[in-house]
Order: sequence, then C-alpha cells, then structure tokens
Amino acid sequence: MTTGFPSDLKGARVAVVGLGKSGVAAARFLAGCGADVVATDDQPAERLSASMELLANLPIQLELGGVREATLRSASLIVLSPGVPPTLPPLYAARRAGVPITGELELASRFIQAPIVGITGTNGKSTVTSLCGAIAEATGRPTFTGGNLGTPLLDAVDTPAAGPAGIVVCEMSSYQLETADSLRCAAAAVLNLTPDHLDRYGTMTAYGDAKSRIAGNLHSLDPLVLSADDPEVRSLIERNHGIRPVYFFSTRSAPLPRQMFMERLMSLGGTVEGDDLVLRGAQGLRALVKDTPGQEEERYPISELQLVGRHNLANVLSAYLLMRASGLATYKQVRRAGAAFRALSHRMQLLTEVNGVRYYDDSKGTNVDAVVAGIDGFPRPFVLIAGGRDKGGSYALLRQVLAAPTAQVRGVVLIGEAAPLIEQALLGVAPLFRAATLEEAVQRAHAQCHAGDAVILSPACSSFDMFRDYVHRAEVFRHAVHHLTGAKPMQDLAK
Ligand code: ADP
Repeated sequence: MTTGFPSDLKGARVAVVGLGKSGVAAARFLAGCGADVVATDDQPAERLSASMELLANLPIQLELGGVREATLRSASLIVLSPGVPPTLPPLYAARRAGVPITGELELASRFIQAPIVGITGTNGKSTVTSLCGAIAEATGRPTFTGGNLGTPLLDAVDTPAAGPAGIVVCEMSSYQLETADSLRCAAAAVLNLTPDHLDRYGTMTAYGDAKSRIAGNLHSLDPLVLSADDPEVRSLIERNHGIRPVYFFSTRSAPLPRQMFMERLMSLGGTVEGDDLVLRGAQGLRALVKDTPGQEEERYPISELQLVGRHNLANVLSAYLLMRASGLATYKQVRRAGAAFRALSHRMQLLTEVNGVRYYDDSKGTNVDAVVAGIDGFPRPFVLIAGGRDKGGSYALLRQVLAAPTAQVRGVVLIGEAAPLIEQALLGVAPLFRAATLEEAVQRAHAQCHAGDAVILSPACSSFDMFRDYVHRAEVFRHAVHHLTGAKPMQDLAK
C-alpha cells in the first residue's frame, strides 16, 4: 500500500530499488523533483553500465552490489522496480517500519492529467497498446504510447500528452500493477490470463488478482474491457468486479453475457459476425445512461485489416472497445487507424512473398498458447516452423489445433532441442520434418508450399539453444527467406 506517500517530493528521502529501465527513469525523475534519491541494486556497477551512464552527473547517491535494509528503513518512500520481488528480505523491515512502497507506474500516474488507457493480459498487450496508440494519434491529440511496452510511463510526464488535452496509452504488467494503488485508468482491458509468472504468484488466482488491479480505480462509467472467451478472466470479474458493467469481447459465435445495467438487460462489447467486427454500446456508458436504451451496432469489415489470426481479431476488438467506449476516438478515426495498422515486429509479421508463398515472423511466439492463437483459423494453408528450447509445458493444445478439420496445415518443420519432443506430440497430425538449422527449415518449408500458402515461424519454444534471443532468431529467419529465389520486397505486396 502506498498510504503515507509524501505530499511533497522535494527534499524527501526516496530509495529506488532496481536499476533497470523503469528504475532509472524513476531515479532521474525524482532527482528532477528535488528529492534526496538513493538508487540501489543487487548488481555491481559493471553489470549496470547502461544505467550508470544515464545516472551519471545527477544528484543521486548510488548503493550497488546489494540492497541494504537500513537504507530502505530510513527512506520516506521506496520505489520498487517491477523485476524486484516484493519478498526481497530488506523490504520486510521497511514495511514493518511503515515506509510506503510504490512503483514507477503509480508515481507517474500522479503527475498525469490526461486520460490513461491501460492494457494488461498474458499475451497481446504490446499489440493492443500499439493499436490503441495509433488510434489515439489519429485523433490528433498529443499521445504517449508506452509503459511495459518500451518507454517508461514517467517519460510521458511533462510532455503535452500528459496534459488534459492528451491521451496516454500504457501497457501494464502484473508486476507493475502490484504497486499501483491509486492509478486511475479512464479505460482498462484484461486481454487474457494463461499460466505465466507462477514462480512469483504461486496460483492463477493471485496472478489474476494482480492483473485486475488495473480496474481498481475505474469510475463506474469508465469502460472495463474483458475477454468473454477466457474462463480465468471471467472468474476474475466474479471475484473482483461483480457489480459493474463490462464490455466483453469474444471471437467465438457464442452470445456475450447480458448485463443488468441501468435497469436494462443488455450485451455490451465486441464480437465477430460474418465478415465484420461488431461493437455494441460503443457510444459509451455515459451516452447509454443519458440518451437511449439502444444498443447501436458499429461494424468494421475484417477484410480491411492487415493483422492476421483469430487472436488478432480479439486484440482489435479490445482496442476498438477501449478507444470507442471511452469516447476518446470516433468511429471513423478507429476504422481508419485500424485498417492502416501493421503487426509489430516478430508477432505474426508478414515479411515477404516468395513465388506466391507468404512468410510470417512470429518469433515472439515462445509458448504454445501464443502459437495456437496465431495459427488457429489461419486463413491460408501453411507450413509451421517450430522448436527451440523446451519450456516444460505441454504440446497437446498444439496437436489439437493442428488436427482440427478446419486446420490447413501442409507440414511442420522442427528445429532445435525440442524437435524430438514436439515430434512425439504431433505424430500423425501432419507431415513432420526435421532441420538442423533455421536456413534448412526455410528451404524445407518452401518446398512443401504452393502459391497461395504461407510459412510461419512460430516456435512455441525459447530461442536460447540456437540463437541469442527471439530477435536474433527472427533475423536469421528473415535473412534465409530473403535468400530464397524470387523473394519480393515487402512494399510490392498487395494486401
Ligand atoms: P505481449 O506484449 O503481451 O507479450 P505481444 O503483442 O507482444 O504480447 O504478442 C506476444 C505473442 O503472443 C506473439 O507471438 C503473438 O502472436 C501472441 N499473441 C498476440 N495476441 C494474442 C492473444 N490475444 N492471445 C494469445 N496470443 C497472442
């Protein structure tokens, strides 16, 4: 809890714990406010050289190579980085001594007047945040897009985007939300909840509860956008937000939950109907209360979108709901910005076309859920390239999706340490191939395809057995694809 947050930071003794991106942003910001800052980290200075450069020549005291209990206990505020576990022993004494503990997100939000659009979930956060940011830009208002996605929220403070005329779109991780007590979003979404970070939370309930803090201070007429398709997200409402109206989104054909709201039984939210995305109640709760009992529909043709995959329809629905139901963007602005939006790098990103075969980079698909989301309902026949370092999960769901009668899988090419394991799991559902390198995998995949097909790199594994990281894996893939004869430059591709 951040009760006891100093009313004036000038002269206040503040300890910043953890000197990654957001810790550095916090230390710099606090020094700028005239606080007496001590920045501390477990790591020695040699391991923190990038951070040290950003903190050089500022009035900030450094305590590196260990976090000291006395330093924390004597502070009037502690700013904890999201990567530092709240169970770090020196924090106990500080807590007992009543020192308020906060985080960069909470700190920043206290200096932001603009409406904040907050996005959390296990997968898809960056995509939805970037799409909301693109829509916000299309309104012509000064916009900040960042948070967990890249630029710390504190960097928005003192920019026009943080003023009353701006819009702030912020990706929020569960770690960041743990310390965000008074953060108030003007619209918030929880996209999905699949097992992740259980080493920190122990249970899905605790993980979900951390995520649900994003909605903690929403006003009753601010839109809360939630997946109707995800049982964990739905259970979170029952636990934490039982009585407020909710905008549900679903990519299944099941009807959305009907809600008692202002004595009318209505479905609010977004669905996929035929060739369109359909929003209901998109004029926002304020308008619904004031104006009509109507559930006006807004339709957005799916054919206009450049994003592919069913999971991206869910992402688009949630972004559109956030921006429309909050009243921050008009139908036209949303539709135009949505149609112009391209996938982020390494997330089902269309790279090029080679002899009619499209190549997609989904190197960020490092778990089975992400891969399944990308290929389930994929609109063309495809070859999947998967494998790498196994993460201990099950490939049963991948088998199930590839075996579905609607799946148009031409084959799976397996690479890396996990190849034998995945092969075992997928025996019989599709032609399986092994390749020693990613270059060979690309050649093999291409040989299986006809014009009109696709090759998707979506590994379901981490990359560390063969590559530095998922970005390096994507670079090797891109290089191999561009070396196939007949590769076209991206800009020559028709939609
Ligand atoms: P995050 O920021 O939450 O990691 P990204 O937008 O970077 O999410 O996507 C990460 C991975 O998850 C990609 O492989 C992407 O294809 C997949 N993904 C994106 N959206 C969803 C979704 N709604 N459900 C499941 N997987 C998704």
